[in-house]
Amino acid sequence: MSSYNFCAGPAMLPADVMKQAQQEFIDWQGQGCSVMEISHRSAAFIELAAQAEQDLRELMTIPDDYAVLFCHGGGRGQFSAIPQNLSQSGQAADYLVSGAWSKSAVDEAKKYVDVNIAATIGFTDEEWKAPEQNTWSLSENAAYFHYCPNETVDGIKMPYIPQNIKAPLVADLSSMILSEPVDVEKFGLIYAGAQKNIGPSGLSVVIVRRDLLGNARANTPSIMDYQLLDKHDSMFNTPPTYAWYLAGLVFKWLKEQGGVEKMHQLNQQKAQLLYQTIDQSDFYNNRVPVEYRSLMNVPFQLADSSLDSAFLQQAEQQGLLALKGHRMVGGMRASIYNAMPLSGVQALTDFMQDFVRRMG
Ligand SMILES: *Cc1c(COP(=O)(O)O)cnc(C)c1O
Repeated sequence: MSSYNFCAGPAMLPADVMKQAQQEFIDWQGQGCSVMEISHRSAAFIELAAQAEQDLRELMTIPDDYAVLFCHGGGRGQFSAIPQNLSQSGQAADYLVSGAWSKSAVDEAKKYVDVNIAATIGFTDEEWKAPEQNTWSLSENAAYFHYCPNETVDGIKMPYIPQNIKAPLVADLSSMILSEPVDVEKFGLIYAGAQKNIGPSGLSVVIVRRDLLGNARANTPSIMDYQLLDKHDSMFNTPPTYAWYLAGLVFKWLKEQGGVEKMHQLNQQKAQLLYQTIDQSDFYNNRVPVEYRSLMNVPFQLADSSLDSAFLQQAEQQGLLALKGHRMVGGMRASIYNAMPLSGVQALTDFMQDFVRRMG
């Protein structure tokens, strides 16, 4: 029986990529050892690393005046690296809060910078609020404006890029990078933990406009100093080499699939099928307004939560894995990143309909 893994992260990787990695595991490119056992300074690895960066640049159409960094420390590592690199002590930075992850970014940033909450989007006391941009409170001289276009826990996606923001836009794309085209030039900095749409956890990718580099605080850890990382091609210290290798395989796979626009079409098809199944039945519920619904993370509740454990257990028996919702939200969540094929969402929606017939 084939199984489908709906985990929010670390998430499933493309089956073709896993197979290739398995084939090359012990002997990579005739080196007589694994890619994880060779020096990051070797010509072979340097070539791999450069190729991965090149493929990512092509996939996202990243302009030459942006540095692409492969960093340690996952998504959260960047929650502190960003204020350290882009702001000085005592300066203000604007944060939009639209869910659990942007809230966490705020909590970390407060250690370094004077955080101003520009606006809060989401459910407050069970009521949906999405204030218009002209009501947001922006600081006079903000070092940057941070937001999270796709909130992984809440299943909330910003339907637009904030406009008329003077400060550089900084976006946490951890759970949506490469899932749809993004106009990189609109941003000062984009970052993403790898384990949702790129590769294994631990690695993060930072895409930063080079004119923003060189202003890191004096006490910024060297391994988080963007300018230093850029100067050393992300090899100031030993990078997460195996994760970088797998990321490179995923980029190649994406190019073979037809690139980001093709993935976007497929992702829309997958999300539509799932939301339709939820909306058509009184048995399932997703309360996020349609315009703000995520294409990647789909939380849903059963009308009768006493059936939650039966739902999860039976789903697992059908090979539908990791559907349990985030501990903060409860209910269910299906994460349907690039690596999830349409057949996986079809299997899930078939099961959901069947479950209603039997248990509803
Ligand atoms: C998963 C996630 C993170 C955190 O990533 P870690 O690698 O666990 O630090 C940050 N932001 C968003 C939006 C995420 O989905």
